[in-house]
Amino acid sequence: MRLVLLGPPSAGKGTQASMLSTRFDLLHLATGDLLREAVANGSSLGKKAKKYMDTGALVPDAIVIGLLEGKMKSTQSQTGFVLDGFPRNLDQAKQLEEFTDIDLVLSIEVNPGLLLERATGRRVCRTCGAVYHLRFNPPKAPGVCDKDGGELYLRDDDNEEVVKKRLRTYEEQTKPIIQHYESTGKLKRIEGDGSIDEVQNRLLAAIVEQWPQLDGLAHGPIHKKAAAPASSRPAMQGPRPQAQAQGQRQQGGQQQGGGRRRKRHRGRHRGRYNGPGPRQQGNN
Ligand code: AMP
Repeated sequence: MRLVLLGPPSAGKGTQASMLSTRFDLLHLATGDLLREAVANGSSLGKKAKKYMDTGALVPDAIVIGLLEGKMKSTQSQTGFVLDGFPRNLDQAKQLEEFTDIDLVLSIEVNPGLLLERATGRRVCRTCGAVYHLRFNPPKAPGVCDKDGGELYLRDDDNEEVVKKRLRTYEEQTKPIIQHYESTGKLKRIEGDGSIDEVQNRLLAAIVEQWPQLDGLAHGPIHKKAAAPASSRPAMQGPRPQAQAQGQRQQGGQQQGGGRRRKRHRGRHRGRYNGPGPRQQGNN
């Protein structure tokens, strides 16, 4: 199962991708997380990326694609992946096609009036990356992750000014991808207003529509496999945030991987990532 989740900033892509990755044992590949990890590590690439992230602009494609390809090659996945935050412009979508096939693109569509509040109220666990919202999804204790007791913080780019720029960037550069995928017949639009569970159920319905054989897996309890390798979702252990978290509750799940990949030389990319198709999916 090779999925792409599209949607504007704070549409809930990370939360939903994390839940899908747990349910279907998919590798969760979030380019925003990969970039924040590079920033937290203080690498030169991270320093370069931060300048763009702090203004709400897109990080240059070469940096993002290099990170993503590296992650795909170094992390195993038995059952496929869910891409979250990538592609973000048409060039990235085209380059993605050079190194992997995509089965289904799910576009989460949210009333634009809600997005600013969603972003500025968001709080993230510094340790495990779990996402909360002060109003819509609070943790049990203010400022503390339910899952591991980690400190919750406000992302540098979740302040109002930067969020507005990120929303403009989405409109101008990312939205055109929706038409691109629509023309390939791989796109399904998902109503993104509502609770986390409501949106998750809509995503699951779209997945079952594509792969009816997954109906039981989509509705049954989640069968936990072996704990995820620590590398499958980066811990957020960067410098202290500008603002301290006050917020509350979590969602998201363990990231799981396992795996196998096939490589093929193609174009300027060294490897082509082909996660297995849905036939290999229904065994967990
Ligand atoms: P996210 O966590 O997905 O909201 O991403 C946070 C920031 O990381 C974005 O505002 C961009 O600056 C950068 N970023 C994440 N993914 C990409 C991408 N695919 N291409 C370019 N920049 C990205």
